[in-house]
Amino acid sequence: MDYEKSRKNMVETQLSSRGISDKRVLEVMGKVPRHLFVEEALISQAYNDHPLPIGQKQTISQPYIVALMTQALMLKEDDRVLEIGTGSGYQTAILAELADKVYSIERIRELSQKARKILDELGYFNVLYKVGDGSKGWKEYAPFDAIIATAGAPDVPQPLVDQLEMDGRLVVPVGDRYSQELIVVERIKEGIRKTNLGGCRFVDLVGEYAWDE
Ligand code: SAH
Repeated sequence: MDYEKSRKNMVETQLSSRGISDKRVLEVMGKVPRHLFVEEALISQAYNDHPLPIGQKQTISQPYIVALMTQALMLKEDDRVLEIGTGSGYQTAILAELADKVYSIERIRELSQKARKILDELGYFNVLYKVGDGSKGWKEYAPFDAIIATAGAPDVPQPLVDQLEMDGRLVVPVGDRYSQELIVVERIKEGIRKTNLGGCRFVDLVGEYAWDE
C-alpha cells in the first residue's frame, strides 16, 4: 500500500474539502504515519473517514475530528499543550509536530505505554507522559497555552479552565454519553469565551471532573 498517497488523498477529500484550512494542520496530517497507530489487522483502513478501535474499548479519532480539534487549538511553535486521552498516540504526534512541548495523560496504562513506544520510535521526544486522571489537569506544569480532551465529558471540567494561560484555548467534547458538542473555551481578558464547533461522538472521559466509571 502507498501510505503517502493515502494520506494525501485523506487530506484532500476529508479535510481541505470540508473546510480545514490551517496550512500547518494540513501539512502535518499529510506527514504523520497514521497507519502505525492502529492495530495491524486494521492498517488498510487507517486513512479511512472514520474512527477505529485501538483496544480497551477505546478508539482512535476520525481524521477530520483530529484536524478540526487541532485547528481550533491555534498552536504556535512555542506553545505548551496538555492532552487528555493519549489513546493510540496519533493526536499526540500531531500536537508534538505543531507545539513546543506536549503533556499527555492517559488513564489506561497499557495504552499509554504502547503509544509511548511508537512515539519514541518516530522520534517525538518533546512529549511528557502520565498515567492518571486527566480531568484534573496537570497542576505541576500548568498553565498551558492549549488543552485538548479527546474523550467526552458531561460538562467542561473546571480544573482545565483554571489551568489555561491567558489567551489559552481548550477544546473538549461536552454532552451525554452518546453524543456531544465540540466546545472551545478561550481565556480572554474579559473572562471566558465559549464557541460550539458542532456535534461529535467520543468515548467517555472517566474521572473526578467527568463521568463515573
Ligand atoms: N486521541 C486518542 C483518542 C483515544 S480515545 C486517539 O486518537 O487515539 C480517548 C482516550 O481517553 C482513551 O484512551 C481513554 O482511556 C482516555 N481517557 C478517558 N478518560 C480519561 C481521563 N480522565 N484521563 C486520561 N485519559 C482518559
